[in-house]
Amino acid sequence: MSKNEVKTTCSYCGVGCGIIVKKDINNKVYVEGDKDHPVNKGMLCSKGMNLHYVVNDTSDRILYPEMRWSRSHPRERVSWDDALDRASSVFKSIIKKHGPDSVGFYVSGQSLTEEYYIANKLTKGFLGTNNIDTNSRLCMSSAVVGYKKTFGEDSVPISYEDIELADSFLITGANPAWCHPILFRRIEKRKEENPDVQIIVIDPRKTDSANFADLHLQLLPGTDVILYNAIGRRLFERGYIDKDFIKNHTEGIAPYKELIFKTSIKQASKLCGVPEKDIKRAADIIGRSKGFISMWAMGLNQSVVGTNKNVSLLNLSLITGQVGKPGSGPFSLTGQPNAMGGREVGGMANLLAVHKDLMNEEHRREVAQFWGVDSISDKPGYTATEMFDALESGKLKAIWIVCTNPLVSMPNTHQIERAMKKAKFVVVQDISYKSDTVDHADLVLPAAGWLEKEGTMTNSERRISYLPKEIDPPGEARPDVEILCEFAQKMGFRGFNYNSAEEIYSEYSAMTKGTNIDVSFLNYDRLKTEGTFQWPVPEHRHPGTPRLFQDKQFYTPSKKAIFNIPTGIENTSFKPTEEFPLILTTGRIRDQWHTMTKTGKVSRLKTHYPTPVLEINPVDAYLNKIKEGDITEIKSKNGVVRVRAKVTETIKKGVVFLPMHWGKQLQNDLNRANNLTNTEVDPISKEPDFKFTCVSVQKY
Ligand code: SF4
Repeated sequence: MSKNEVKTTCSYCGVGCGIIVKKDINNKVYVEGDKDHPVNKGMLCSKGMNLHYVVNDTSDRILYPEMRWSRSHPRERVSWDDALDRASSVFKSIIKKHGPDSVGFYVSGQSLTEEYYIANKLTKGFLGTNNIDTNSRLCMSSAVVGYKKTFGEDSVPISYEDIELADSFLITGANPAWCHPILFRRIEKRKEENPDVQIIVIDPRKTDSANFADLHLQLLPGTDVILYNAIGRRLFERGYIDKDFIKNHTEGIAPYKELIFKTSIKQASKLCGVPEKDIKRAADIIGRSKGFISMWAMGLNQSVVGTNKNVSLLNLSLITGQVGKPGSGPFSLTGQPNAMGGREVGGMANLLAVHKDLMNEEHRREVAQFWGVDSISDKPGYTATEMFDALESGKLKAIWIVCTNPLVSMPNTHQIERAMKKAKFVVVQDISYKSDTVDHADLVLPAAGWLEKEGTMTNSERRISYLPKEIDPPGEARPDVEILCEFAQKMGFRGFNYNSAEEIYSEYSAMTKGTNIDVSFLNYDRLKTEGTFQWPVPEHRHPGTPRLFQDKQFYTPSKKAIFNIPTGIENTSFKPTEEFPLILTTGRIRDQWHTMTKTGKVSRLKTHYPTPVLEINPVDAYLNKIKEGDITEIKSKNGVVRVRAKVTETIKKGVVFLPMHWGKQLQNDLNRANNLTNTEVDPISKEPDFKFTCVSVQKY
């Protein structure tokens, strides 16, 4: 590598591809895939290979702090000192009058680990409230609950290198061909080189991932648990189970077996809308394979029964003994680049740093002692949807939003608008005016973006990478940790006087010592010189841990993995009615990222799917008198969307699809899918349901 090049990691999805950043003669950056990187081996997807356009185009960037004294006044440019003085005086006064639970932070799975750590320490350790949650709540929290219930801790057991060793894949509730493209490229290559490798996709839509599969099970939305149980039943019936593994390394097989034998495969076929022969074939593929990997994303997690879906899928890995050995295991696909890093430092309302449990008194005492504070509140904080409910009801008075755009990404966005208007004080810390949320801010703080600050992230396979600062942020934008630490100091809190991101990382890594995510022997020097590492890294010169549970010792009290029984096999989302007869599911498209504040700046990324469209099956289109290209009006109990129709066989009859990315980019909010979605959440993971909203559709 020349001295004008730096290695870093893509700032988009959880695949975590390695990127080499170079500068041209005009000092503009450009990017290439890192051929030596273990994740992508030089490949980048459309989003990653266009990252330099996002960095070089600063026309949308927030350059200076802005503040308004009242909602009837416009925001005006202020100094950093004035901005943070105001923030600290408002937070102090609200806390004094209404208590610490009247303020909260809403952060992001795109935040670096050091930023997440500081936000969490500041909120739980010093502000005295657990009101910190993250947009990762909308993404991975059901998977976290599934892992904890099954393995005893939030621990992805697997590594990307297992893809090259597996001979069957069950991809369910995910479209990695579009949403995790480089990971999917590795699966395609595995299949190309080994045609016997079998790929099963479960999805109500015939996606590009489904098109590549050997078997596509186009289930009815919400019937996932029934389908996984039916596959489990067939595995039992055919003797495709690992009796030794079940006997020696698991608990709870009897009630699981009893449950799955309550529903016949024929009944399951009818309930799921999937042919009986396909359910049997899926089970036979899994049962015959030496290495079986299940992969899933938002189709499972974003559901009012997200926990049930996760544990039911994980049970398939347990009955087949496909955990902790090469080429096998369950693998949740993370949507954001550092959702896992955020969980490591406890950046959610119900977690503590280093995977400690907020509801455990001993854990709270340990963390408080480490941070040098008297105690940590035992009251769980507001989760994402609860936080905006509390703003709307007036219980939460002030919110500080970092690096996320809830005005587009949260469910039922009209409620989010009402909540933001009701808030007494809104701080938005972000990089771009393209975020719709900035419009609601009383105080806007300009943050540094990718390449403009240093820190670490953890990808979907527990791989920690170091991201260097390569360029200066524009205007007066500053790294998020600097902003948060200066605010903490103005609040009068000790323990935030860091000289660098490295000092923050060192504090966090020391905290991990002796835990299951121990990285106490992984420092910035090793990350800079040796590259990326998968946690844990618990010893000097330790190379990292590609695969967990190889010794079949799990993190539960008994050291055994646990078969969890879903609380029911039914989907508890609101059912279709005469008024709202169709099921809306939302999701990503190939070339856009989240709310398009970055990818929306890149012209070439708009050509693939230039405007949002409603995907509707020809039968439903006929019944609703809709033709290709018609403007349709989609209504739910929460709102309205108007977009053109795309009549397509790729979506199951009775189901319609909208992409989730668009907010005000088209100068109105009628293309915003989350106008329609529900705020109902999974009772355990508190993750909202973006995959099952009942709607009506008509020609506008
Ligand atoms: Fe970036 Fe994900 Fe694409 Fe890799 S697959 S280049 S991490 S967006």
